[in-house]
Amino acid sequence: MYIIIVSNYPRGSKKKVKYSVRWKNPPVCSQCNTSHDLPELWCEKCNGINTIQAIQGRMRSKMNPSTLWDFSDFFPSFSHHISLQEGLTPVVSVKSIPALTGLKLKLEFRNPTGSFRDRAAALILSEALARKKTNIISVSTGSFSISIAAYAASAGIKSTSIVPQNIELSRIEQMKLYGSEVIIKGDNLEKTLAESQNYIQELQAKSLYSNFYTPTPEKNLLTIEGQKTIGLEIALEYPEIENIIIPRGSGSLLYSIYRGLQDAKKSGWIETIPHLFGVALKKTDDSHLAESLDIQRDPRWSDMIKEVVKETGGKEMNITGERMVKEALAVAKYEGLLIEPASASVIVASQILHEEIPLNMEKSMAILTGSGLNSMNVFATQLREKKKVVWGLSPATAKFEILRIIAEGKAHHGYGIWQSTGKKNTIQSIYQHLKNLEEDKLIRNDNQKGKRAFFSLTGRGMEIYVKMREIIDL
Ligand SMILES: [Zn+2]
Repeated sequence: MYIIIVSNYPRGSKKKVKYSVRWKNPPVCSQCNTSHDLPELWCEKCNGINTIQAIQGRMRSKMNPSTLWDFSDFFPSFSHHISLQEGLTPVVSVKSIPALTGLKLKLEFRNPTGSFRDRAAALILSEALARKKTNIISVSTGSFSISIAAYAASAGIKSTSIVPQNIELSRIEQMKLYGSEVIIKGDNLEKTLAESQNYIQELQAKSLYSNFYTPTPEKNLLTIEGQKTIGLEIALEYPEIENIIIPRGSGSLLYSIYRGLQDAKKSGWIETIPHLFGVALKKTDDSHLAESLDIQRDPRWSDMIKEVVKETGGKEMNITGERMVKEALAVAKYEGLLIEPASASVIVASQILHEEIPLNMEKSMAILTGSGLNSMNVFATQLREKKKVVWGLSPATAKFEILRIIAEGKAHHGYGIWQSTGKKNTIQSIYQHLKNLEEDKLIRNDNQKGKRAFFSLTGRGMEIYVKMREIIDL
C-alpha cells in the first residue's frame, strides 16, 4: 500500500512550507545514525531502518483515554488533529469455540471504516493538514485506501485512489462514497504503482501540483506511530497479557504493536513485553482468499519481524487461505463476529499454538484486524461453492445480462430487455449497452428496415456468452 501526498503549491513557488510536526524522540537511522525530520521509516542514505526510541508517557494510573488522541504523549505534536473516533476498540472473550474458550479478541474491525488502518490514517491526515496539503493520492488494493479516503473527507482534503483492475467492487464503492476519485490503472499493484507515477508526472506537467513526496504507508513512520496504539491499549487495559497473536502482511502491524508495548514498558505500565506471534499467509492456490495478507514482502521487514519475534520469545507461523476462510465462517456462526479471512488467521494460529504449548487463554489476545463486510465476495464463493460470484451491475455484468436475456429469448429489443433486467438501470443505459454490443459485433440487429430493432447474438457473441457462463454464476 502506498500513499503519495501532493501539495497545491504552484511549480517554482518560493513559498516555504512551515513544517509543524514536532517529534518527541526524532527518528534516527539505526545504521548510520542520521536524524530525520520527515516521517520516513527507511533511511534515504543507507536504507537502514529509522527508529524512534521508546517514549516515556504518563503513569498507568494517570491514563483514562476516551479517544486515540489521549495517547498523544506518545505521538509527535501536530498542529491539527483529525479523528473519526478511531481506536479504543472493544475486547471480547471466545465463548463457543471449545479449545479457545477465554481467548481475548481485540475487535479492530470496529474502527470507523472497519480496519485498524484508521489509527494510521488519523495521524497521516493530521500531518497532511499540518503541512497544508490539499490533495492526497493513495495507491493500494486494500483497506488503507478506504481509510485514507474517509479521513481525507473528514479533513477536507481531496483524495484520489489509484487502484488495480482486480480490486473488489465493494472496496471501490466505499472509496467513492467518501468522495475519493477512483482511477483504475494496471492489472496488479506493481503495474498500478508504475502507472501512478505517470499520473503524477502529468499533474506536474500541467503545473497543477508540485512539492509532493511519496511516503508509502509501509514506509511511513506515522503508520507505525498510529498503529502502535493497539499495543498501548493492550498494555493499559490488560497488563496481564502474555501472548499476542497478530496477522502479518508486510509486518508493519506486528512491529507497530511492538513499538506500543515498548513505550508502555518505558512508562512502567508493564514489566515485560508479551510474546508476539506473527501469522502469515502460506502461499498456495488459495492465497487470493486472504488478499490483505497476499502481498510481496520487503526483505527488510522480514528481517526485522524475525528479530522482534525472537526477542519477545514468540514465533512466526504460516496458514493457508482456505483454512482462514473456514475459520472466519466459524467465528461468524459461533461467536457472532463477522471478520475478514485474513483476521481469522489468528484463530487458526491460536488453535495450533494451544496444541503445541499450550496457551493460557485468559492471558492471550488475538487481533481481529478487518471486517468481513469487505470480503463478501470471498464468503459468497465459499458458501455457494462457486468459482466466482459477481455482485451488482458493473458495466461488464450488465452487458453479460443483456447477452443472456437475448440468448435465452426473453426479449429482443431495448424496452423488453430493460423490463427483463427488472428496470434496475435506466433505459438509456440499456440502449447504450446495446449500441456498444452491436459495435463490438456481439449482437446484430436483424430488423434493419425502419421497424423496431430485433437483436440476436452473433456467433462471437454466443461464444463469449457461453464462456462467461463458465466463470460467472448468475
Ligand atoms: Zn542510515
